[in-house]
Parts: sequence; C-alpha cells; structure tokens
Amino acid sequence: PFFKEYLLDDLREFPILSAKLNANENPYGPSPKALEAFTAAAPKGNRYAWKELFQLVNKIAEFEGVQDKNIMMGPGSSDLLEKTAMVLFMNGGNVVSADPAYMSLIRVAESVGATWKPVPLKKDWSHDLKAMEAAVDANTKLVYICNPNNPTGTITDHKELLDFCSRVSEKVPVFIDEAYLAFMGEGLKKSMVSLISEGKNVIIARTFSKIHGMAGLRVGYIVGQEETLGKLKKITRGGMGITYPSVFAAMAAMDDVEFLDKSRVLNAECKKFVYNSLESMGFEYVPSETSFVIFPIEMEGKEFLQKMTHLKVGVRAFQFMDKNWCRVSMGTMEEMKLFADATAKVLI
Ligand code: PLP
Repeated sequence: PFFKEYLLDDLREFPILSAKLNANENPYGPSPKALEAFTAAAPKGNRYAWKELFQLVNKIAEFEGVQDKNIMMGPGSSDLLEKTAMVLFMNGGNVVSADPAYMSLIRVAESVGATWKPVPLKKDWSHDLKAMEAAVDANTKLVYICNPNNPTGTITDHKELLDFCSRVSEKVPVFIDEAYLAFMGEGLKKSMVSLISEGKNVIIARTFSKIHGMAGLRVGYIVGQEETLGKLKKITRGGMGITYPSVFAAMAAMDDVEFLDKSRVLNAECKKFVYNSLESMGFEYVPSETSFVIFPIEMEGKEFLQKMTHLKVGVRAFQFMDKNWCRVSMGTMEEMKLFADATAKVLI
C-alpha cells in the first residue's frame, strides 16, 4: 500500500486555528432549524431517547425508501464503520478497497486481524471496479467503497458502480460510504440505496456531519439488509450512543431543505474560489464532487502541515501516487482567503 497520512506530533503545541479546514466540517451548520430543535429538546436530557429514536428511524426509512428494519443508527457514521469492521473481521479475512480511500473502517479491520487489499484508483480517479472484483477472493469479508471518495473528492460512474455492487454483493457484502454524496448537484440521486429493495447485500452509510453541518452532534446511520444489520446489532445497539437532543436536531435537519440547498451552493462557490486561487498560483488540483479539494504539493507533508499550522491554517497532508498532497476542506470564504494566503507563503 502506498497511501500515507502525515500527522503533526502534538496538535496541542500549535496555535488555535483561524481557518479550520482539516476535517471536512460544514462551516454553516448546524442548520437554524436543527439548532432550535436541539435547544428545545435539551431539557429532556434526563431521559433516554428510546421512542424518539424510533421516530427518527422511521423518518429516515421513509426518506431512503426502505423499511425501519433496514436502518441502524449510530453516533456518527464512524461508529458504524468501525463496528462493521469489528464484527465482520473478528475471525480475520481481508477487506478490498481503493487506494487511496477513507481509512477508518480499514484501519479497524486491520487492528482486529484482517488484511487490506488495496486497489489503486484509475488515472481518471474513479474506482478500478474490474480490478476490485478480481481482488475478491475466498477470504474477502467485505468490499469498501467510498463514493465520492475521500481524500480525492472524486466519483465513480453511477451505472458501473450499480452493476458492480449488484454482482459482487452476491459473493460478499459491499459497503458504500456516501458521506459526501449529498454535495453533488443531483443530491442523493446517485445513491446505491435502491439496491436494498432489490435484496442485495449492500450497506450504505450516511452521516449528518457533512452537508447537515452536525459533526459535533454525532448522528449517522447505515442502510442494510435486516440479516446483515442483525449481526452488527449483536454487539451494539447503535443508536444508544446518540444524545436525546441530537435525535431531534437530526429530524429537524432533514426537513431544513433550504439549509441543505444553501450549503450546496456555498460549497460550490467556495470550490470555485479555491480552484481559481490554486490556478493563479500555478498549482494543479483535482476537481472535486465533495466539500474538500486535493492538490499536489512539492514539500514533505509534515513540514507543510507545520508551516500551515504556524500560520493558523489547518489542512491535511497525504502521500499517494508518488506525490505529496494537501487536502483542504471548504470553509467560509474568509477562511479560504486565509488558506490561499498561507499556501502562497508556504509553497511559493
Ligand atoms: N466517511 C467518510 C468518507 C468521512 O469522510 C467521514 C468523516 O470525515 C466519516 C465517514 C465519518 O464521519 P462521522 O463519524 O462524523 O459520521
């Protein structure tokens, strides 16, 4: 595997960031309606959100066009990615995914004894579905696909991915992480969730952390077949980790279409600014379908992070495809200007 992330030794040594562009958070969230619902529900924090959680599950099931039994909630989708890895790989096996990919499920799988079978993305940044299918063997317990992918921000053709998931899920479950799908122009139209009603063994993950702007309120879910979710539910009740007010915030956030549309538009404007800034500084970049952009840098990743952080701009740095890369999240326009100034100072 040639994917590597550069990290600072100790984040606490560094100044408070003026532009926090390192975790793909939505600078405009939570939505006004979500915040209002959260605040109104907070005094009921002495209660478990037991029946209220069923209300949220029901609302999500309706939204996804599936039944309640196909939904499993978690305090953020990380919890569900990690628990899926723990359950499916507790007796070893391998996980097939792209390289680079979002590593959370893969790292947990490895830590409980699985091996990672990375398949490089194609030159056009899409998943190499042929090679991924060929990589599936008798020990493969799961195929993990992040679409759009993180850290690249790029997508794989909808029809080809549908065919792939449909076919491969006959042999092994396919996990599709759609954390950023809602940022695309057509919203969730390119989701793999339709495969659930066709009885396919796919698991789709979604989160309220990104376009809904609720990363700190911790709500996410997966959609899957009842039997598959049943295996996971043996070790976790999932939704037990979601706080009472967050359940209400999530329901309100789903209804705040105005906020979601606004986030999509502002995100697109921000990306345009970043593309233009990078171009004017002479950098290449990878056009993104998400709320972050990557571009190659000619500096060792850790040194780059240290220099950017010193200027109070937080970004991420990776190494893959024989290059070093910066990943910058879309923040407010003001934050993006700080990012552009800092990048010019550090790299030019
Ligand atoms: N999946 C992807 C692709 C992500 O980028 C992230 C967060 O950055 C997550 C899942 C997890 O987010 P959360 O646990 O906040 O739902």
